Amino acid sequence: MSVLGIDIGGTFIKFCGKAGKSIKKGKVQTEKSVDSILYEIKRIVKNFHPKALGIGIAGLYDKKSEKLTNSPNIPFVEGLPLKEILQKEFNIPVIVENDASAAAFGEYSYGAGKNSKILVCLTLGTGLGGGLVIEGNLISGVSGSAMEIGHTTVNFDGWHCHCGRRGCLEAYVSSYGLERIYFMLTDQKLSSTEIITLANEGKTEAMKAIDEFSEYLSTGLMNILHTFNPDTVVIGGGIPQHYPAVIDLAVSRLKEKAFSLPFRDCQIKKAELGEFSGAFGAMALSERLYR
Ligand SMILES: [Zn+2]
Repeated sequence: MSVLGIDIGGTFIKFCGKAGKSIKKGKVQTEKSVDSILYEIKRIVKNFHPKALGIGIAGLYDKKSEKLTNSPNIPFVEGLPLKEILQKEFNIPVIVENDASAAAFGEYSYGAGKNSKILVCLTLGTGLGGGLVIEGNLISGVSGSAMEIGHTTVNFDGWHCHCGRRGCLEAYVSSYGLERIYFMLTDQKLSSTEIITLANEGKTEAMKAIDEFSEYLSTGLMNILHTFNPDTVVIGGGIPQHYPAVIDLAVSRLKEKAFSLPFRDCQIKKAELGEFSGAFGAMALSERLYR
């Protein structure tokens, strides 16, 4: 048996395939075009000859029309009947989910969320994605747009978000949120990677920015705890990967904010699959198709 998961992002396609017990993963860079993405997907699929294929894709994926409806990172894929194209091309079952949902299922199946009853997974990178797995089932909503935690409001009159609204959690808790927090503190425009490097070197202003960032993250976590009462929250993405202490900072603030009961019963962990959570999840979803 061979199954394959592919995670399609703005710059890279990541893949994870399994034959028997052996798992192979990797990533390839793509150009910003449908042709380039389809070309790489076909190449990867031909290497693995899977019996089923799972896809995680960046953006709002409509489960009813089976099309990507809104994606700031890969707008050129919007409206493309990807599932239909791939099923016809390879004659195998294909499942497509939003990338953050796929990441949650990946951490549930192969990573830090194993055996959890109610798992919420946050992917904290360019944007802020969310995913939910309850009793082993990925909950992505009737139209596939559940768990857009990044676009829940934490400050109704707050900063502009990339989605066009104001005061979304993502406007603060994302790489561009961190960059803005740092700019407000220092009047300097640095990338989130540069800010994290400075924080790791112990530079005061960068550490202050991350501390403020953790304040917003803890508010997001409080909303999650009060909504889902999960036993596990897994936090992945570039920021916690390169500065894991941000999770501890947020948890200590969360303890002060949240009801004690859901706080007591929730473990908050760093993701284990790094940048491959989504590819692992897409693969795990494809395994279910094949069974
Ligand atoms: Zn938003």
